[in-house]
Parts: sequence; structure tokens; C-alpha cells
Amino acid sequence: MIGSWVDGVERVAVLTGAGVSTDSGIPDYRGPSGVWTRDPSLVKAFTYQSFMADPGVRAAFWQSHRQSPAWRAQPNAAHRALADLERSGVAVRVLTQNVDGLHQSAGSSPRKVLELHGTMREVVCTGCGERTPSEQTMARVEAGDSDPRCVDCGAILKLAVVLFGEHLDPATAGLAERIAANAQLMIAVGSSLQVEPVASLCAVAVNAGHRLVIVNRDPTPYDELAVAVIREPIGEALPGICAALAGTKPGPVRG
Ligand code: ZN
Repeated sequence: MIGSWVDGVERVAVLTGAGVSTDSGIPDYRGPSGVWTRDPSLVKAFTYQSFMADPGVRAAFWQSHRQSPAWRAQPNAAHRALADLERSGVAVRVLTQNVDGLHQSAGSSPRKVLELHGTMREVVCTGCGERTPSEQTMARVEAGDSDPRCVDCGAILKLAVVLFGEHLDPATAGLAERIAANAQLMIAVGSSLQVEPVASLCAVAVNAGHRLVIVNRDPTPYDELAVAVIREPIGEALPGICAALAGTKPGPVRG
């Protein structure tokens, strides 16, 4: 599984998608038991224009998040392996599509984790831009507020995640591109690599002459450009890769 592509690597970029968090009990969006597969009407709630225009859509959005297992989810072996890799002294940056914050919970430094699609741990005011911990807003939703508003300016509140039709933060996108261009090895884990910006980040790495390794259950559009494609379960494959990069032998997972 692990080849010479780990040799001499000092700078690693790891692109993570929903597949990294499914072992933590967080369903993906489009899979067989995904959030949108079970309730297609929720796609509208994840579209910026609908969310801003319709109080009913906002109520549906908050209700669907009220029950999300992500609030209580714990990091799994894949998250811990990446945190251990950082501690081993390898320069590692995590570029994640996930909004669950589990890389940071596992011990990855917040400044080493780029949240491409934002975070569900914070709520942002669409009027004044104030950011607050999500717990405060979710408590109001629990108490019956179907359309929570900013306590300062009265504008619509939304989770600090990137909805459909909403632009990525330009500073984050630019930094992600520089990281992809500078890492010697890019590992794409648990992502179908079919949406932006992750697809083009893989292209940036390959065009810069760097190695791309893909760990995913299903084929991706980038498999043919990768030096290795690994289909094993992420929770087994990623700890092995990280241990090899850290120059240690795979052993028991440290607490
Ligand atoms: Zn406000």
C-alpha cells in the first residue's frame, strides 16, 4: 500500500472530505444514508438565496442541524493520525471540506487546519458580521426560536458554513492554493473530488510536479493522475501512511 512516494517528504498537504468523519458517526450529504438523500427538500435550506429569502427555509435549516450527530461527535483514528503527524515534526497542513471541527478536536493546531467550507462551530451575523459560538444560537433554537436574529443588529444569523451559491472566503481559497503548490505530497482522503475548490487543488499539486495520493472508497476524477490510489478503509489506511511519513512503524493508536 505504502510506496516510495513517502520517501523524503517534508511538506504534506492533506485534503479531507466527508469520508474522514463518517467513522465518527457523521453522515455525508449525498451518500445512501446522507442528509440530502433522506430529505431532498433540505438542499434548498443549504442554498444561500433560499436561506436568506424564506423564514420557512431557515426554520428547516436550524431544525435539521438541531438533531445533527456532529455536535457530539468525537474524532476518530484518521483525525488522530493527522494530529500525531503534526506532532512528529513533519510540516503538515490540513485542507478540509468538513465543517465539524474534528481535526482541531483531535489535536491538530487550528492554524494548520484550513476550513474550506467554514465551520458549524460558529454562527455569523449576515448584517454586522459578528461571530459567536454556535451553542448560544442552538440553545435559542432548542427553546423554540425558529429564526434566530442577531442580538446586536437584528439581522439574520447563519452557521459560519459555506452554503450553495455562496463564495468561499477569498483569503482561505488563496492560501489553500499556495499550500497545494508548495507541498511535496498531497493526500486526498475521503473526498469524491468532484466539487470546487478541492478538484482544482489536486490539479494545482499535480501541475506543480508534486505527488498526489488518493484514499477513497470510490473512484475519483483524479485517480489516473495519482501515484497511488488506496481503497482500504480510511481509519486503517491513514494511520499507516502517517506513521510511514513520520518515520515510525505503525503501532497502537495513542490515546
Ligand atoms: Zn449583527
